[in-house]
Amino acid sequence: MGKFTAMLQYQAADARLRKLEVEIENHSDYVRAVKARELFEDAKRRAENTEQKADELLKHYEKMLAVYADGQKKLEDIEVTAAAGIAADNVDKIRTAVSKIGDLLSRLEKEIGQLSSHLENILRVNDTARKDGSKFRTIFDDSAAKYKKFKSTKTPEIDALNKELAALAAGVDKRLLDHYNALRKDKVLPAFVTLEKTEKSWSCSGCRMDLPMDTLSKLKADGMIECDNCRRIIYME
Ligand SMILES: [Zn+2]
Repeated sequence: MGKFTAMLQYQAADARLRKLEVEIENHSDYVRAVKARELFEDAKRRAENTEQKADELLKHYEKMLAVYADGQKKLEDIEVTAAAGIAADNVDKIRTAVSKIGDLLSRLEKEIGQLSSHLENILRVNDTARKDGSKFRTIFDDSAAKYKKFKSTKTPEIDALNKELAALAAGVDKRLLDHYNALRKDKVLPAFVTLEKTEKSWSCSGCRMDLPMDTLSKLKADGMIECDNCRRIIYME
C-alpha cells in the first residue's frame, strides 16, 4: 500500500458525497428558496425604511398642522378685536399683520399639501414592500418545503457515505486529511492530484499551471508538493 493509497480512497469516496451535495445545492427548489430569501430580506428592508420615513414625515406633518392652527387662531383674535372697533391709527398695523398671517397660512397650506402627497407615496411604497415581503415569504416556505423533501430522499445515501468516509478516515495520515479538509472547505477538488508531463515541463493536473523544472526532483525527494497556483497537493507514490 502506497503512502497515499488511503488518502486517495478517501478522496474517491468523498467525491461521491460531493457529487450528491452539488446535486442538492443545484436543485431548482433550493436555488428558488435562496433567491426568495434574498428578495424577502430586500422587501423587509424597504418596508422598514419607508416605515421610519413615514413616521418622521407624520411628525413633521402634525407640527405643520399645529403651526397652521395657531395662525388661524391669531386671525380669529384679530377679527374679534376688529369687530369691537379699531382706532384709525391702528388700521394699517392690523392690515399688515393680517396680510402677513395670510401669507404664512397659504405657504403652510402648500407645504402641507406637498407633505401629504409625499407621505401618501411613502405609504404606497411601504404597502408594496409589505406585499412583496409576504409574497416572497410564501415562495420561500413553499420551495424550502419541497427542497427539504427532496433532500430527505438523499439522506440514506449521504449517511452511508459519511459512515464509509469515517471508516476510511481512520486509516488516513492526519496531516494529509487536515490538508484535504482545508481544500475541500474551499471546494478545491480533487485536492490530491498527480503531476502531468507537458512538452517541455511539468504541470499541475488540477489547474494545468506549469511548474518549475526542479519540481520532479523535489517531488521525488518529498513525495508531495503544494501547487503554488491552486494549493492542491501534487503527489507521487
Ligand atoms: Zn495547481
